[in-house]
Amino acid sequence: MIIVLKPDCTETQLSHLCDKVREMGFNYEVSRGVKRTLVGVIGEEDRLRNAPLRAIPGVEDVMSVLKPFKLASREFKSEDSVFDLGRGVKVGGGNLLLIAGPCAIEGEDILLEIAKAVRAAGANVLRGGAFKPRTSPYSFQGMGEEGLKILRRVGDELHMPVVTEVMDPRQVELVSRYTDMFQIGARNMQNFNLLNEVGQTKQPVLLKRGMSASVEDLLMSAEYILASGNQRVILCERGIRSFDKSTRNLLDLAAVPNAKGLSHLPIIVDPSHATGRPDLIPAMSYASIAAGADGVHIEVHSCPEKAMSDGPQALLPEQYSDVVQKMRELAKLLGREVPQPV
Ligand code: PEP
Ligand code: MN
Repeated sequence: MIIVLKPDCTETQLSHLCDKVREMGFNYEVSRGVKRTLVGVIGEEDRLRNAPLRAIPGVEDVMSVLKPFKLASREFKSEDSVFDLGRGVKVGGGNLLLIAGPCAIEGEDILLEIAKAVRAAGANVLRGGAFKPRTSPYSFQGMGEEGLKILRRVGDELHMPVVTEVMDPRQVELVSRYTDMFQIGARNMQNFNLLNEVGQTKQPVLLKRGMSASVEDLLMSAEYILASGNQRVILCERGIRSFDKSTRNLLDLAAVPNAKGLSHLPIIVDPSHATGRPDLIPAMSYASIAAGADGVHIEVHSCPEKAMSDGPQALLPEQYSDVVQKMRELAKLLGREVPQPV
């Protein structure tokens, strides 16, 4: 349910309303828009329908949200969500988020070398996996905590926020000690225990679309995180499975304006995992910006042939630099905010 407050609703009335909602056994989230303040009330649908919300002072109207996702919906928040990822990096509202780095953390020297190159190219967030969700149990599984420590040190040295994947609810506390943003990978998009767990933290979450998930499924997964109390979720389109084996996945670019119409959450594109092909990544990066994406997530390696994971899809630093330069020009042309190098 969405409670629309009267324009003259006082702060005292609002806090009384929040107390009442909590007493009724529901959770809530306040959305302060330019024109109106709304309170999204979440809980069991049947009980919500019969709750006497309209009788509370300061309430103008009570509407039910028709979409299955509530807090993630445009109905609850009409303006785009804009938030900070740390070190002055903003996402949403026209800001370009440029996440780059190797698929996996392989060692300190190599990560530092790649990080310096992507930072010089204009990336504003460093990525690198310490826990890798590999299809084969015999493939490199990541450096674990040692990798997290390396990522943190390199991020700190270069003043870049860092993002890394968390695969298990039991790892959330450990990973949160070393990262600025959690990544939930495609394979875990519907790991609801994991979504609840990261939802209870204060760190932003990069939520990747599952390979067989609809846009609505993606938004329902985001809803789990929002409903657990964490409002900083970034959606990521990374391609879905198709019959065509000429690309690793099928990039669904329409998901960008589609999700934006349905939700206030920022959405970025990962053309690396979507195509699996360095020759297609530049064109798909430009297309993502043109489609309205809030940024792109690209794997970069200084020596792809030696990479321990996803080497064949990595861009070389100089290729990445060229892509960023053209994305910046395109973004400027489209009236978007071009990030200052960090
Ligand atoms: C990754 O970002 O390295 C990754 C494994 O991505 P995805 O979950 O989209 O496959
Ligand atoms: Mn990868």
